[in-house]
Amino acid sequence: MPFPEINQFLIIIINLISLLVLYLVLKEDVSNRSVKTTFLLTIFFMLSWVNFAYLARALAREDAILALSLLKVAWVATPLLFISIYFLLVNIFEKKYYYKRLNRFVLFMGTITAIIIGITDFVLNGLRFVDGYMGIEYGQGMIPFFSTITFFIIATTYIIKKEYYVAPPETKTKIQHLIVGIFIFYIANIIFNITLPVAFNIVHIYWLGDYSTIILISLIAYSIIKKELFEVRVAITGILISLIGVLLFIDVAFLTENWGLQVVKAITFLFFIIFGYLLMGSITREIKQREQVEQLVERLERANEDLRAADKAKSEFISIASHQLRTPLTSTKGYLSMIADGTYGKVPPKIKEKTNCVFKSNERLIKLVNELLNVSRIETGKIKYEPEKRDLEKVLGQVVQEFRIVTKEKGLTLKFKKPKEKLPEMLLDEEKLRQVLLNIIDNGIKYTPKGGITVSLEKKNDNALITIIDTGEGIAKEDLDKMFQSFSRGSTGVLLSSEGAGLGLYIARKFIEMHDGKIWAESKGLKKGSKFYIQIPIK
Ligand code: ADP
Repeated sequence: MPFPEINQFLIIIINLISLLVLYLVLKEDVSNRSVKTTFLLTIFFMLSWVNFAYLARALAREDAILALSLLKVAWVATPLLFISIYFLLVNIFEKKYYYKRLNRFVLFMGTITAIIIGITDFVLNGLRFVDGYMGIEYGQGMIPFFSTITFFIIATTYIIKKEYYVAPPETKTKIQHLIVGIFIFYIANIIFNITLPVAFNIVHIYWLGDYSTIILISLIAYSIIKKELFEVRVAITGILISLIGVLLFIDVAFLTENWGLQVVKAITFLFFIIFGYLLMGSITREIKQREQVEQLVERLERANEDLRAADKAKSEFISIASHQLRTPLTSTKGYLSMIADGTYGKVPPKIKEKTNCVFKSNERLIKLVNELLNVSRIETGKIKYEPEKRDLEKVLGQVVQEFRIVTKEKGLTLKFKKPKEKLPEMLLDEEKLRQVLLNIIDNGIKYTPKGGITVSLEKKNDNALITIIDTGEGIAKEDLDKMFQSFSRGSTGVLLSSEGAGLGLYIARKFIEMHDGKIWAESKGLKKGSKFYIQIPIK
């Protein structure tokens, strides 16, 4: 018997881990009952096979007849193990009814093979010993038997290949460890249990095939415990490291007789264990970090979606509210005008004065409602850009003209500097551009207590550049960028004018951007006046 201690050691480990897995599986509340059943069957047949084969090997030299019977039990369990693995996969992929014919065939072949092995000597004929290691005397059924096992391996591989890639992501992550374990088991089987003994008469490492189940069962245990939080990568690294570790250990403990060599190998083994441990740690850390990042991204995405929904709700609310406000405001405006015009009789001067105040307030409200409507149209993408060929100088001149009276009343100067070189007609959405200009010049007047406003137009490269300069309150540095955002009022605005919602410049920016243009402001600071620039390409 080679390495009896190792055999014992491994068999104990396999049984312990299997017990743990059995416990975990039984405890788990699996919705698909057939998965649970096939799982339990897989573990049952695996244990039967590995344990009976172990017993046979352990007793082979003392009682060959008993050993042969034990081995037969193990060999009966083998095809049954293969078919349970097959059905386990079919059940996990929930394709029980899809592969009906293949299922029946696999079941039939497995049962027949198990029965033949159990009651005849067709496959297992007797035991023999090669250099003291137990080997098997195969009967004529050896080739059909190994062909059947190969067929089972092909059938499972076929199912995995067909179903794995189309399976939902949760199923995929759930079974990747299982699949890796199954393949390691298959490969070890093909090498140690089939190819080496049958083709090369190498039987002393036969047990490696049996014990490769330890990897399968550990992977299953691992994925159940970890609920598939980690990737296969960690599991594979861990398994490889443990495997090499076990081999190194066997080498040191059992195969090396020279004392000095043993020390050297022991040190190597120690270093290997330390570095293996560190490697595992770093991989686990890296994966954990990635998981954290992934979780964070997911949370951000969700938060972003919520924000977008809230933003949409806000735009809709603004739209509905402002539509509802506009009608009564417009009719109020109409009635106030008629009162002022004396439609309902002569109005005493005191009342006329107050009516005028109400009229102005009403106008402010209408302006606000219009701004809100514009913002909601901009944000919901409902606003239309309707450019036509226009003379910018003429449009600007008219807007400046509209402010003549107001500036005069406020004692401010208002200059319009025309371009030296006449500008060609440009594609402009006149209505929107007018609104922008009205807003900027109105702001200039609003925030300028003395001095005046200078509006100029010039051609700069392929652009028309409008400059609106005032000698007013100026803009604080930190306000310069923010001013063009929605609902954003600068310190000047808050301080000097109680009206206004901080929407004018936002709308202006959006309208100018529709013209592929740019709008920006400059100011040397508070009390030092402001300069607003509007640049529109001449196309
Ligand atoms: P509102 O004037 O209603 O507050 P706007 O979007 O038109 O909204 O302007 C945003 C802010 O930009 C104002 O609150 C004000 O602080 C600042 N601002 C705009 N124009 C001027 C100006 N000509 N001089 C100084 N500050 C200005």
